[in-house]
Amino acid sequence: MVHAPQRPPVGAPPVRINLYSDTQTRPTSAMKEAMMRAQVGDEQHGDDPTVHALCDRMAALMGKEAAVFMPSGTMCNVAATLTHCRPGEEIIAHETAHILTSEGGAHAALGGFQILPLKGARGMYSPDELRAHIRGKSRHTPTQRLVEVEQTANIGGGAVWPKSVLDEIAGIAKEHGLATHMDGARLMNACVASGCSAADMAAGFDSVWLDFTKGLGAPLGAVLCGSAEFIDEAWRWKQRLGGAMRQAGICAAACLYSLDHHVDRLAEDHANAKALARGLAQIPGMKVEEPDTNLVFFDPAGAGMSAAALVGRLRMEGVQLSMLGGRIRACTHLDVTAAMIEETLQLLRAAVARG
Ligand SMILES: *Cc1c(COP(=O)(O)O)cnc(C)c1O
Repeated sequence: MVHAPQRPPVGAPPVRINLYSDTQTRPTSAMKEAMMRAQVGDEQHGDDPTVHALCDRMAALMGKEAAVFMPSGTMCNVAATLTHCRPGEEIIAHETAHILTSEGGAHAALGGFQILPLKGARGMYSPDELRAHIRGKSRHTPTQRLVEVEQTANIGGGAVWPKSVLDEIAGIAKEHGLATHMDGARLMNACVASGCSAADMAAGFDSVWLDFTKGLGAPLGAVLCGSAEFIDEAWRWKQRLGGAMRQAGICAAACLYSLDHHVDRLAEDHANAKALARGLAQIPGMKVEEPDTNLVFFDPAGAGMSAAALVGRLRMEGVQLSMLGGRIRACTHLDVTAAMIEETLQLLRAAVARG
């Protein structure tokens, strides 16, 4: 059987401090009010004014011609690869990329694409690593079609690719006639952390999308951007995949609200993540990765505790952490305060001390 999401352990108290994921934020009252006021229409029919407003704003933000509203980030990735590639073609991505590890094999199952996994620290491959994996064209080799990056790199610890590296990667792709795609699930985190605009980050990329259900705190939605021609074709895939919606303006209104109110505040999430990492680093033996943004990965093995045991212990104190790739991940977001980080650190210190 494949695994359903896990239920809380028997006897566990309600979660008071949710560091599991920035996907678990709840819409604020003000966001819900914006949703209530939204003008809506039939999105599938092209009649939803709020969805149009969101798409226009996102195309401008990303510096692309056009945009399409999708129910999820995964659908943005799937519609994008289906638009860029043909069956049997190859996508180049980091070995920890979401498209490779976390989308149920969609790109192979639906598109017939194979993904060439590149190595590199913190979820990022280097321009040299990319160059070394460009295949010569022959009857034997799969046709390479697309180069993918993830900004920020999720399993890479929320790492931010510098704009100069992104430009170099895009340049190599263009040189070899390859298309480029940016999984920008947490692109605004990268922009706030680096001071670089979304349009500049994505300048060399043919397609890019942003998720509104991560740190931006909306209940649903992601927007994929690219050329008008690319978005036309992506719309066909959205229709085929069942992603064409009806009164979707209710959700687009939450996304617009988040662009107005929840972008600059990502800096607080980054500060909270840094505070958590600093505190963790003071626990003897604890291995902590210095966070660029809102994801803190740590490994308590050197402090004498397994990751699973520590996550279980904290859950019994009402603190929810997650495990990813054998490490613990703590994610800061809209619903996590500096005081909660302090309390989490106290509970972690106590748990490790008890062993
Ligand atoms: C969450 C995430 C996705 C998928 O987005 P959903 O909206 O959950 O479908 C894709 N890529 C990255 C890097 C993510 O973190």
